[in-house]
Amino acid sequence: MLSLRMVPLLIASLCVFFWILTPCASADPRFTRLAREIVADFTQRVRPLEITANRAWWQANITGKKEAFKAKEDAQNQLDAVLADRAQFDAIEAIRRTGLIDDPITKRAIDVIYLATLEKQVDAKLLKEMTRLSNDIEEKFTNFRARVDDKTLSDAEVRNILKTSTLSDRRQAAWEASKELGKVVEPGLRKLVKLRNQAAAGKFRNYHQMQLFLNEQDGDDLIKLFDRLDELTREPFKKAKAEIDVELAKACNVKVSELMPWHYHDPFFQEVPAVFKADLDKIYAKQDLIALCREFYRGIDLPIDLVIEKSGNDFAPRKGKNPHAFCTDITRDGTDVRVLANVVPGDYWMSTMLHEFGHSVYSSINIPSKLPYVLRSESNILTTEGVAMMFEKMSKRRAWLEKMGVKVEDPKAFDQAGAKMLRYQLLIFSRWCQVMLRFEKGMYENPDQDLNKLWWDLVERYQMIRRPPGRNAPDYASKYHIVGAPVYYHNYMMGELFASQLHHAIARKVYKGANPNTVVYVGNKAVGAFMRQYVFDPGRTLSWNALTRHATGADLSPEAFAKDFSGKK
Ligand SMILES: [Zn+2]
Repeated sequence: MLSLRMVPLLIASLCVFFWILTPCASADPRFTRLAREIVADFTQRVRPLEITANRAWWQANITGKKEAFKAKEDAQNQLDAVLADRAQFDAIEAIRRTGLIDDPITKRAIDVIYLATLEKQVDAKLLKEMTRLSNDIEEKFTNFRARVDDKTLSDAEVRNILKTSTLSDRRQAAWEASKELGKVVEPGLRKLVKLRNQAAAGKFRNYHQMQLFLNEQDGDDLIKLFDRLDELTREPFKKAKAEIDVELAKACNVKVSELMPWHYHDPFFQEVPAVFKADLDKIYAKQDLIALCREFYRGIDLPIDLVIEKSGNDFAPRKGKNPHAFCTDITRDGTDVRVLANVVPGDYWMSTMLHEFGHSVYSSINIPSKLPYVLRSESNILTTEGVAMMFEKMSKRRAWLEKMGVKVEDPKAFDQAGAKMLRYQLLIFSRWCQVMLRFEKGMYENPDQDLNKLWWDLVERYQMIRRPPGRNAPDYASKYHIVGAPVYYHNYMMGELFASQLHHAIARKVYKGANPNTVVYVGNKAVGAFMRQYVFDPGRTLSWNALTRHATGADLSPEAFAKDFSGKK
């Protein structure tokens, strides 16, 4: 059994001998052996706890039972305790710092473990205070109800008013009431931001930089990428928004120049307002969505039968079940990957199921078993989101449906609606992500600045929505992710960029340079072979940018994405 406490000492002594005896060599098998032992030891400790935590997580989300949530929390705490182990971290840091591991897989495994454990090396008291504060705020999110005219409204009711009401006053009242949550959350959030920065202090400039580092990203590079994305999307977005604005103004009988944030169909203008008569739902209402997914993925030689079986073929909405959709690799050995869903036939769930099953094929089912446990997963959150998003888009393509044997009654209307929705969704979402990335960066860099102003400056600049005259309120604090999933949102956008770039690579390599807009994969086993070879096989041995180069031949950029929404080849 490896004594972790002794490892830094052992390395120090080995290094001394090493440098005296072999000053020119670049690596030493003794370090590699030791690194392998550290990886094996870590795996032995962490793996059973992760499997228990995953099972508990599944149980809690499928039943909604209190005791299941308690078991999930216990399992997570046990796992966190191992990840926080100081002696283990010192050993990992020491072996990593030597730079003398000569096996690239082991070296990568050590890097990955280093990132996973670095995150947990926070002063226990500070960590506890942060957890308490964020739980406190999350509870405020769960229990908040907007109040209009002495009536309380659920989140769904607010959304419904924003989707359907033609009365500007009513919309304004609902929108303003929903933003009251920001005022409730703000004081706690401000404290939490400072604590998060405190936790990052020493090694990092601030919490934002630390979170990016843990995800193998760099703030300056991100801003460069998003600046380029801004350039490419600004004019097309302006045009799309002008078209949408005309419809929104008409619906409420106001002038376009009078449109306010509450005239859009969701509280943050992150979705396409339902102003185009696109009834994709009608087509999917009569379909067995799971059967379509099964057939599609089987056709491209990435079968999902095991996933369906392991999920208990239980995809219908049920009381107690988490109403959203997730995919989880329970054991990371290719034998137990599950998808949780609440399918109601329609376009939303068709694309959601293609998305979730897309995650499920990018798992240990297709990632080779020869990789060590810590590397037998997706390269990065953004690459698995990208793969899922790439498959998700098929639901809005007529060629996909027809090749799947589903009849489209009004093909012209479908084409227009599907293409428009895809394009506008990408554009609107990309502008919204600009606000989220830049706001979070600014907030952690300088939490004492006027955050209300920062938020609205960004909304006006990137989403082109005017702030209501005289408004000075912490509207940013009513967005859940800023509290519950910090420094995460930009990964969705990068996932979209990855999805487009990968799709274009498939069109180029598998379809011999075909127009990407015509490529729908159906029945083509070469697509599965391509995905295995270029995306799944490396697991986590490659970082996200190395994998992007490996799979597409270029660094991640918004160019393919821009071509997708321009409609041109
Ligand atoms: Zn996803």
